[in-house]
Amino acid sequence: MTSMTLADLHPGRIAVLAGGIGGARFLMGLRACLPPGQAQITVIGNTGDDIWVHGVRVCPDLDTVMYTLGGGISAERGWGRETETFVVKEELAAYGVEPTWFGLGDRDLATHLVRTQSLRAGFALSEVTAALCERWQPGVRLLPMSDDRAETHVLISDPERAGEPGAGGQPPTVAIHFQEWWIRHRAAIPAHGFRVIGIEDARPAPGVLEAIAEADVILFPPSNPVVSIGVILQVPGIAEAIRRATAPVVGMSPIIGNAPVRGMADACLAAIGLPTSPLAVAQHYGARESGGVIDGWLVHADDAGVLGAVEAAGIRGRAVPLLMTDVAATAAMARAALDLAAEIAGSPDRR
Ligand code: GDP
Ligand code: CA
Repeated sequence: MTSMTLADLHPGRIAVLAGGIGGARFLMGLRACLPPGQAQITVIGNTGDDIWVHGVRVCPDLDTVMYTLGGGISAERGWGRETETFVVKEELAAYGVEPTWFGLGDRDLATHLVRTQSLRAGFALSEVTAALCERWQPGVRLLPMSDDRAETHVLISDPERAGEPGAGGQPPTVAIHFQEWWIRHRAAIPAHGFRVIGIEDARPAPGVLEAIAEADVILFPPSNPVVSIGVILQVPGIAEAIRRATAPVVGMSPIIGNAPVRGMADACLAAIGLPTSPLAVAQHYGARESGGVIDGWLVHADDAGVLGAVEAAGIRGRAVPLLMTDVAATAAMARAALDLAAEIAGSPDRR
């Protein structure tokens, strides 16, 4: 390694849009591939998954990022705390209190209690998140996409009115909270679409638009393109800021071959009418030069066959290993994303 290429490859300000597990794992690799203290990573986290449950405010994606980077995540589950117990959850179930399907751990509950108390005292979610991060020291600046409540809901056929004709001949639909669909039903009920309730009035949290505008590089980790990054992009002003940013924007495919690496992103893509493929996700984000939000796209090494079509969509593509099996493999993937960003930034045909 020479210091000259290091300077090229290690931009000062990196903005990352992140969901939960995929985003958090990627951030472990990104943090590891940068020399300590040289870069400032700002994470813009999805809060569309947030939910009030048993009187506490839960922010699953922010917490997954915070616990993962702070060393407190359950490695086995990928969410919640390590050495977790579920006594409170069992006691609530013994009272017959719903929802019984939500995995509320005892250690995790303390985070939600602190958050809820602080929100009730009038602090904004961004302030509360910063305060929680003082304990966890994630090594990144973690911002919620918005301080305003905007929760993802899933449109499903109304089980109570099955067989009835609805508006426009379509069967009547009902909206359930994303968490109910994802956790309780394991995304097995066909979804007709998503509605982020409250999104039109949500404002980007303080610092979000500035982080995008001032970034040297903007990255989309292999987070869910529909219900993680797709929701962040729906906050009024965020997609526009990304389109206008001077930094190159590079994304990484959460789909390898024709399947998500983990989770049920295929059900989310199907709900918005997209096939589960690395090419479809790239086309869905679209090239910035034609009104989309990315300039570059990484696909898994075995998916190199789609690169021609990715480039035809105006997006610069590379095929590299995208399996985040450990921090070293993830750091190599993060490096590949930064390399592609540097190449895009340095290319003469850049607008
Ligand atoms: P969630 O909020 O916990 O669902 O997490 P994210 O939205 O951040 O990320 C979920 C996505 O990460 C899923 O669609 C997975 O396919 C993807 N993912 C998980 N592990 C890997 C991996 O090792 N490599 C790649 N390329 N994608 C992954
Ligand atoms: Ca999530």
